[in-house]
Amino acid sequence: MANIFISVNNLKHTFTSKVENLTVLRGVSFQIEKGEIVCLLGRSGSGKTTTLNLLAGLNKPTGGEIIVNGENITQWSTEKLHTFRLKTTGVIFQEFHLLEHLTAIENVMTPMILANEKEEVAKERALELLKAVGLGDKTMNYPDELSTGQKQRISVARAIANNPSLIIADEPTGTLDSKTGDGIMKLLLRLIKKYDMTMFYTTHDPYITKLANRILILQQGKVFEEKEVDPTNFDYDNFEQLYQPKGDKA
Ligand code: ADP
Ligand code: MG
Repeated sequence: MANIFISVNNLKHTFTSKVENLTVLRGVSFQIEKGEIVCLLGRSGSGKTTTLNLLAGLNKPTGGEIIVNGENITQWSTEKLHTFRLKTTGVIFQEFHLLEHLTAIENVMTPMILANEKEEVAKERALELLKAVGLGDKTMNYPDELSTGQKQRISVARAIANNPSLIIADEPTGTLDSKTGDGIMKLLLRLIKKYDMTMFYTTHDPYITKLANRILILQQGKVFEEKEVDPTNFDYDNFEQLYQPKGDKA
């Protein structure tokens, strides 16, 4: 690859509890180039959210490495990871995770304030971003006064507030109807091009899958790659059968 941005090498993750140890990732490896739009597919429970959370620095893996811009983030201190989460990544969740007691504009300002931006500057940029996502007239509304599509637009504005280079989106259209979801994805892709960002996302929607440049398939704790995404040809209904691991070396 010409311009590697992220390199995930032999990533392993086991959830440990008193009752059981659950190994979810058993040696996941893939790379992402700057500017790519990569979709991670896999059945429910296959470890998509686990992978995204590790990449976002929200959790530490049991093994393996995640190299971002040449640096292994799995070895970073909590403090350095905190800065990484604020400045380098923007995360969009299926359930929005907006702060209910804050207005739309305050939600978008939050990551900027946490990154020590001046309040006036944060406010001005939040307003600009809310206009860019079509919510210029809803800046003073609270999340529960808005539709699900509008809430996700706020999350999009919040995710790009600190001008991150990587957008991580976990089923961003999962709670939206298909028309609204389609609108959100098109908006996201437009902003990603405009601000030169890279995106890594998961979805259950065959149509949303096809908006990627590349598809990765997570199956039995490993990743398989679909290089050429042909929007007319990707066999979403059968991808699980198509990507059975050949030799199991876990
Ligand atoms: P997906 O997003 O593909 O549906 P997840 O990454 O959420 O899958 O979960 C993968 C597996 O790990 C599931 O079996 C889930 O129950 C389990 N899991 C996820 N988070 C935790 C956790 N914090 N503690 C224990 N098990 C977890
Ligand atoms: Mg998930």
